[in-house]
Amino acid sequence: MLEIVTLPVLTDNYIYLIHDPVSLETAVIDPALAQPVLDVLQEKGWQLTYIFNTHHHSDHIGGNLRIKQQTGCKIIAAQADSARIPSIDVGVNEGDVILLGQHKATVIATPGHTSAHIVYHFVEDNILICGDTLFVMGCGRLFEGTAEQLWHSLQKLKALPKATKVYCTHEYTQINGRFALTVEPQNLELQQRMTQINLLRSKNQPTIPTTIAEELATNPFFREDSENLQKTIAMINRKPVDVFAKIRLLKDHYS
Ligand code: ZN
Ligand code: FE
Repeated sequence: MLEIVTLPVLTDNYIYLIHDPVSLETAVIDPALAQPVLDVLQEKGWQLTYIFNTHHHSDHIGGNLRIKQQTGCKIIAAQADSARIPSIDVGVNEGDVILLGQHKATVIATPGHTSAHIVYHFVEDNILICGDTLFVMGCGRLFEGTAEQLWHSLQKLKALPKATKVYCTHEYTQINGRFALTVEPQNLELQQRMTQINLLRSKNQPTIPTTIAEELATNPFFREDSENLQKTIAMINRKPVDVFAKIRLLKDHYS
């Protein structure tokens, strides 16, 4: 079993450390900062093997160089990001498989938030590391891609096994859920989930990981086919991608 440490940093970022107790290999995902990661490694007595980056934004790569310098780890990131993520050791593409010990992670390209965004799917461990593509009850903003691109990317994630545990980079859950209720107020699971989420956040606890099943039930960006949602946003019987684009636009103006 992989051990995962969730490390909250900055205002709302999470850095994840993934450790394989068999091979003793360890990866850190999107280290915004170096020092908190180095501290966890020391505390745990872990040696860092890899940095996995999902995309080039500074709140995902800010700690890369210092961590690499201190640990000698290798940086894995999208080949398409090699001009803007310094010092990449392994540039990866859709379908590539990375090994953490014996644990296979498949790379899935998910353009939309940025043009080169990738996610890592540990297939046999049922773990998805998704950066800023999918959030709890939300999805990434369109900085470099079109709504259509991000929609296609999210279709790939929607098709993953329902029990997949999903680790995203930001704690945006409460605001996402509030928005979700405005576009689908009738959704009982969403209402119940918000009660749980509000309780967790009142104790300052993370709302992560989520699962694909929970997102299918409550994430408006996975629910373009909901009639209630389509009715609320005046998009009945429109193409799924157009419904999605409208939800994205409404969310942009919500917060
Ligand atoms: Zn980002
Ligand atoms: Fe981010």
